[in-house]
Amino acid sequence: MRTTPILEVEGVSKRFGKFQALTGVSVAFAPNMLTAIIGPNGAGKSTFFNVVSGAFPPSEGRVRFRGRDITGMAQHEFARIGIAKSFQITNVFKQLSAHENVRVAAQMRTARFSLLRPRASLGELSDKADALLQRVGLWAVRGKPATDLAHGQQRALEVAMALASEPQLLLMDEPTAGMSPEETVVMMDLISSLASERTVVLVEHKMKLVMGICQRLIVLHHGAFLAEGTPADIRANAEVKRVYLGQ
Ligand code: ADP
Ligand code: MG
Repeated sequence: MRTTPILEVEGVSKRFGKFQALTGVSVAFAPNMLTAIIGPNGAGKSTFFNVVSGAFPPSEGRVRFRGRDITGMAQHEFARIGIAKSFQITNVFKQLSAHENVRVAAQMRTARFSLLRPRASLGELSDKADALLQRVGLWAVRGKPATDLAHGQQRALEVAMALASEPQLLLMDEPTAGMSPEETVVMMDLISSLASERTVVLVEHKMKLVMGICQRLIVLHHGAFLAEGTPADIRANAEVKRVYLGQ
């Protein structure tokens, strides 16, 4: 890799009891690229996502963000250093409007930094929430309670909330799960445009979905690294074809 990686995963393994969900995975992510982690069901993608996003520590191996070892770091520290993950549905307040939800998310960021700079005013937070809602295509429904939004809109709202922490690295696990084909197209377009401004790592089961939008793919199989490359490389890879056809 020519550029210095923003995220480095080195020899990461994860065991759940006797079950080995990940085995010695080493991969590095270049900044400002959209990379997809793909693989058949049970390949270890979500486990990889959880280790990298700090939900739980690896059994072995290290994770580095911008050169800093973040292995085992507390979950709340991740947002502070510039890593956000979307879809944490539990963070959405169903009775609050889309606008209020994003404003709360933005407020949490400024509260974290309040020792370093003055707290943002309500007007500033409101403006920021509006800009983020515009960014994810929810401007028209900003006043609606989150619970009244369509499934695809709720997930776009979660993206806006994740963006409120101004992450340099955005992690997403199967962002289009449960979406209609139309909602899927809207979300993939959004992800593609977000990736022009920051690093995005996307975990996705459906290979076809990511082929058109990501610059690089990493394939996991049985908890281990199988292949990596451009979409063209991966499409032509016989091993990848075999594991995808064999599932
Ligand atoms: P993927 O997201 O690629 O479908 P996962 O990372 O969710 O795969 O799961 C990989 C394997 O690890 C699966 O066999 C799954 O059953 C197992 N696994 C995942 N999480 C746990 C857990 N908390 N406890 C036990 N086994 C788990
Ligand atoms: Mg998964």
